[in-house]
Amino acid sequence: MRILVSNDDGVHSPGLHALARTAQRYGDVRVVAPDVEQSAMSHAITIRRPLHYVATKVDGLEAYRVDGTPADCVALGTHHWDRVDLVLTGINLGLNIGHNIWHSGTVAAAKQASFLGIPAVALSAPSSDEAPVDYEALAPWVAQAIEAFLGLPDVPLLNVNFPEGEPKGVRWTRMSVRHYEGLVIPGEDPMGRRHYWFSERPRERVEEGTDRWAIENGFVSLTPLRLNLTDDSVLGEIRGGAVAGEDG
Ligand code: MN
Repeated sequence: MRILVSNDDGVHSPGLHALARTAQRYGDVRVVAPDVEQSAMSHAITIRRPLHYVATKVDGLEAYRVDGTPADCVALGTHHWDRVDLVLTGINLGLNIGHNIWHSGTVAAAKQASFLGIPAVALSAPSSDEAPVDYEALAPWVAQAIEAFLGLPDVPLLNVNFPEGEPKGVRWTRMSVRHYEGLVIPGEDPMGRRHYWFSERPRERVEEGTDRWAIENGFVSLTPLRLNLTDDSVLGEIRGGAVAGEDG
């Protein structure tokens, strides 16, 4: 099996190296990742300038660093390597649950694979300077998530998040979509210029069965995702005449 590994934290991320190490159990691994951090780039692609890559090594593995976005890396990586069977992205330094899925470059890299018809898994773990991830302890859980995915051939795209510390188990979840208050916090830079920080505050309680619920309760969260954003229930109502919409 040919496995392409990418991320949004850049080619030097310890999470990427940990994922590449575990991926080797399942086949030939090649790393194609951004040369610098591209977190929160979502599904941006580069269209106004050419892309370049430079060969490098990640833990002795064939690797390439790309001057582009996570989605660029997967597009370029699968172009240069015929018949990639699986794309793994991460392990992101930070959770990608709920609305963060919309912002995530890690999830977008997996989505890019899915657009190309290649099964893909995005993996993320909470990480901070005070509590760095113990990748050795996490490795069996990473393997379990990959194996769960490989055991379900009809699932094209999976979003995996790990809780802090030793997980209690694994839960299949749905994406939590909480409304949140976007906060813009003004400040001043050393030159006296106004600047702004983006922040947020959740507005609703955590719902059972969601990705956020699993993480807050110490479980690994597995969420199957899809690319089709159509709201079928609203569409059904409109077409059924319950809501004014389509003209006869
Ligand atoms: Mn990231």
